[in-house]
Amino acid sequence: MAAYYVKAKKIIVGDALEPKENAGLLIQDGKIAAIYDEMSSLPIPEGAQVLDYGEATLIPGMIDCHNHLALDTRLENHLVKMEDCEAEQTIRAIKTMRDDLVSGVTTSRCCGDRFYIDVTCRNAQRQGRLMGPKLVVSGIGMRAAHGHGYVGMPHTGVLEFQKRSRENILHGVDFLKVFTTKVINATPFIFHFMTPEELKAVVTEARSVNLPTACHCSGGQGLNDCVEAGIDCLEHVYYITPEQVELVKKTDRWVTYTPSYALNDTLLFKFSPKDREGSLKEKEIIIGCLSNAIQGGLKFGIGTDGIHQGLAQEACYISQLGAANRDVLAGITINAARLCRVDEKTGSIAVGKAADLVAVAGDPLADIEALKKVTAVIQDGNIIVS
Ligand SMILES: [Zn+2]
Repeated sequence: MAAYYVKAKKIIVGDALEPKENAGLLIQDGKIAAIYDEMSSLPIPEGAQVLDYGEATLIPGMIDCHNHLALDTRLENHLVKMEDCEAEQTIRAIKTMRDDLVSGVTTSRCCGDRFYIDVTCRNAQRQGRLMGPKLVVSGIGMRAAHGHGYVGMPHTGVLEFQKRSRENILHGVDFLKVFTTKVINATPFIFHFMTPEELKAVVTEARSVNLPTACHCSGGQGLNDCVEAGIDCLEHVYYITPEQVELVKKTDRWVTYTPSYALNDTLLFKFSPKDREGSLKEKEIIIGCLSNAIQGGLKFGIGTDGIHQGLAQEACYISQLGAANRDVLAGITINAARLCRVDEKTGSIAVGKAADLVAVAGDPLADIEALKKVTAVIQDGNIIVS
């Protein structure tokens, strides 16, 4: 495999995301083999090809913490398309994977796709047969029979959730995903569709093989039930209360923020009139809840929830909601990697980790909007965009 010596005006290195001026790094065998600062006297191996990104800033490859391969919000009636046949959904997944990778997403966490498309695509990507982010997958998302979820499949009772958990595990998933609430609620009482026993059954199955769990959970009693059951990551948390922020913090759980579903008016206008109306009404409430959670310092990752090529925009929303730029960047790099349990391999620019790198015009630590200006993408030492 080719060796590269990569130069840029700034490189954001290490788990602490520290900027290094006029630094360089060496890529060998798909990994970061050395990081050079200006004064460094480490030798650049002969034959290494020089990649000079000039005025750009080099950041770790981005990680989308909440994605669905076959859900593509850019399409008309994208939710109805979740009923498409397996082949159609797979073709869509292949396209969204390519789109995400060229936008700088080198790893993506799939929170439910039908037909084990995510497992198939994860394996194909690993084998070099498919271009896309490295995938962290949950297989079949599990919801209650009467519950929310266009992506998840219906289940009733502890036994059915157990059975599907085991089937997912047998397929080789990386975590288990359940859905207990709706997305946007629009009523004061937040419905929750899974019983505490069903949640606990899934957690027990996951823990028996050392896998983490995640739950689509907007708030209400469902959120408390998730924490009580031992769910590791709470997805969306649009209605998290100050008390729940304390609870989540005390119990050291992760949250994934997917702000567009509340904040992005362009997306809202793609919903059905009823959903749209509910979302618009709820917007201010959700902004308050998410800002409060960010202020409360919950450990978080950021996800697009199927808004392909939209991760930078999600990051900008989290910044607008009050997060410091470094924390926002961590939410799509090192902390995202921790949430996905891949931080030993990726998520920061460190010697020994995968050469997953993105060059952006500008410095995202100074102006988070710089994340939208991707000029180069490298994944596992392969040049994807230059
Ligand atoms: Zn989702």
